[in-house]
Amino acid sequence: MPIHQAFHMEMQTAFTMNATQIVVLFDDITARLDHYEVINNAPTRQSFPKVVERIKTLQKRSTIFPDGAALTASYQGTDFGLETLYDLVGWIFSVTGNTPEDATPANYYYPLIVLYCQWCRTLCAKVEKEPQMVQITWFTQESIKRVCIGGNLDRPKKLRKDIARTNRFGMLLAHGLAQEDERETRYTDDGGQLIGHCAETFPMLFIKSLKDKVTLPDVRGVAVKPFEALGEGVANKFAVPDTVALRQQLLEDPCKNCKVVLPRLGSINLDHFNILNL
Ligand SMILES: [Zn+2]
Repeated sequence: MPIHQAFHMEMQTAFTMNATQIVVLFDDITARLDHYEVINNAPTRQSFPKVVERIKTLQKRSTIFPDGAALTASYQGTDFGLETLYDLVGWIFSVTGNTPEDATPANYYYPLIVLYCQWCRTLCAKVEKEPQMVQITWFTQESIKRVCIGGNLDRPKKLRKDIARTNRFGMLLAHGLAQEDERETRYTDDGGQLIGHCAETFPMLFIKSLKDKVTLPDVRGVAVKPFEALGEGVANKFAVPDTVALRQQLLEDPCKNCKVVLPRLGSINLDHFNILNL
């Protein structure tokens, strides 16, 4: 691997860790927040042990959803309700580590989202679930490079999924990224998902919460299909797909809902989310 040392570990080593080893690493991050370069913001850091505890609890119960309420965790001082194990792990990826100055999709962003896919798969192996879609957004916050990562809500029990989707929609509404009359309407075709379902939800919320600290025209991102990206046929899983056909197979453009919601962040360039521009 090139420069990427995710979580101070070679990517290949990180990729092959089992569930116990991943949780041990999360505990180690909790104990050494400076070492792992967790965002230096008090509420964010105070949330870290709670997030790790919730991941352990869900793992023990062999579920990706909590029985009760979402877990409230801070992203740089703003509280959000994290529902699924994917939300929790995505939050860890979004607050841990130092994005290198010379980070590119090839040497950093794409390998990182593939690692997230793999860890979600590993942590959920017992329940044989994993997100159907994940997304990484990268941006500059007052000259510091950051990433935000999230997963969609697929494959839980329907009732609990609807509650989570409604909660996520409520957060989008509260942050001005959705409108009340969109609660049960969709821009996707019939049978498509409602707003709040998508993997982009937390990346969009986190960036919105940073207000004018983010250089919006430079924000970029890509959605990845874990089943395809981790597929046996993919020889080098960390390599950005290099043909149009492969990109169409492994990656996904923003859906019609996201094409409405993303521009509400401000001066976003939707072309920066196109799979052909990765
Ligand atoms: Zn979407």
